[in-house]
Amino acid sequence: MKILLWPHPTLKEVSQPYPTDDLAKALLQRRVTEMFGVMKAAGGVGLSAVQVGDLSRFFILDAGNGPEVLVNPHTLITTGDRVPMMEGCLSTPGQFEIVWRHPEVTISYLDGNMVPQTTTATGLRAQAIQHELEHLDGHIFVEHLKAADRGRVLGAMMKMKKSGK
Ligand SMILES: [Zn+2]
Repeated sequence: MKILLWPHPTLKEVSQPYPTDDLAKALLQRRVTEMFGVMKAAGGVGLSAVQVGDLSRFFILDAGNGPEVLVNPHTLITTGDRVPMMEGCLSTPGQFEIVWRHPEVTISYLDGNMVPQTTTATGLRAQAIQHELEHLDGHIFVEHLKAADRGRVLGAMMKMKKSGK
């Protein structure tokens, strides 16, 4: 399992709802176990399935509440004016930029056992959830940046690709 690096074309694809039958549930467990390993090794707090080439609507988080699996998530409420937060992405390793995020978000989703859940997140967890939800719709945080900043990140990524990392 490898993390796709921006601007890989798959990162622009919209992920599809994940099935909720028993087989899908069993496959999910295996998939997320591997994803947690990859995410931990890369030092991340969130990873969407699309980032490892799987166009399914789920992501994993470890952003203060322990390991979490969020399947077919929907935003219910975003609270507060957006505030600037330093942000990175495992698809743009080593690149950190300011992105404006809501300080609080409430979402509904299915957990790793396909049980419906609702959660209100703040701080880093809220930021990570907003970041990962964008991945599921084929977007990435660099799209929020001014052209010059986006260009700088792209340049760094091209350099990394060239050096074969
Ligand atoms: Zn990301």
